[in-house]
Amino acid sequence: MDISGFFRAKEKEGDLRSEEGILICGVCGEPKERRIDGVDFPVVTLCECDRRALEERGAADREQEKIQERIRVKEAVGRCFCELGPDGVRKAENMTFKKDRWPDSRQSVYCRRYADGFGDVLRENVGLVLYGPVGSGKTFLASCVCSRVIEKGYTARFLNLGALAQKSVSIKETEREEAREAIMTPDLIVLDDLGVERRSEYMDEAVYTVVNARYMANKPAIFTTNLRTSDFENPKDERQKRIYSRIVGMCDFVPVNGPDRRIGEHNIKKNRIGKILKGAEQNSTTE
Ligand SMILES: [Zn+2]
Repeated sequence: MDISGFFRAKEKEGDLRSEEGILICGVCGEPKERRIDGVDFPVVTLCECDRRALEERGAADREQEKIQERIRVKEAVGRCFCELGPDGVRKAENMTFKKDRWPDSRQSVYCRRYADGFGDVLRENVGLVLYGPVGSGKTFLASCVCSRVIEKGYTARFLNLGALAQKSVSIKETEREEAREAIMTPDLIVLDDLGVERRSEYMDEAVYTVVNARYMANKPAIFTTNLRTSDFENPKDERQKRIYSRIVGMCDFVPVNGPDRRIGEHNIKKNRIGKILKGAEQNSTTE
């Protein structure tokens, strides 16, 4: 059987053949075949045109991968913020650290570091309470963290705590199951707007159900709230105390007071994640 045909270069129009019988590319002038010891016919090799074609294909593959990655992130961000509806998702897509107008503020640096170190955060199971007045950017920062951890390949869900709490004790089993899934499955959840829900025994129980379920899942949660640390320190009653003490046990407290305020170390009530965040200010760059 003659196998030489399989190893020899394919001749194209314009190609030449050297005196030794080696095929020469008619375009770039480089040989398309070469001699190797122990083989009595010349075998195929790559001319410049072939090498360039391969490189271009590699670049095209890499470009394709980038596009795939952008699609993956977009879809995951859509799932993360799905409860906010299509307009909310569009808004959330713009809530990224790249769009942060005060990237050097302490709370931005802290949140960025938290998201960048999310592997450690997840392992150590450290949540955050982002607290501060309305309009200080708590929801923005929490959304930025979600987007960044999604980019890193983790799953995240952004949830309104009041709505989720109601769902979690709904009489409809499908809603309870949805709530359970949303609480337990993602690597990170944001529970937005702690403390704005109208209090009742029923609602307190529902909120506790959510917080406790996440605690049992042993994964981090970020709470945003207008409450002050003094509210956590002085709960109004036993029901509130049960909720707050659970949250205090799960989270570091990060004041978010707008861009101008500086956070003193003493203001960070607990800092279990100091190791991850150490050097945040020196190392962090505006991305
Ligand atoms: Zn060539």
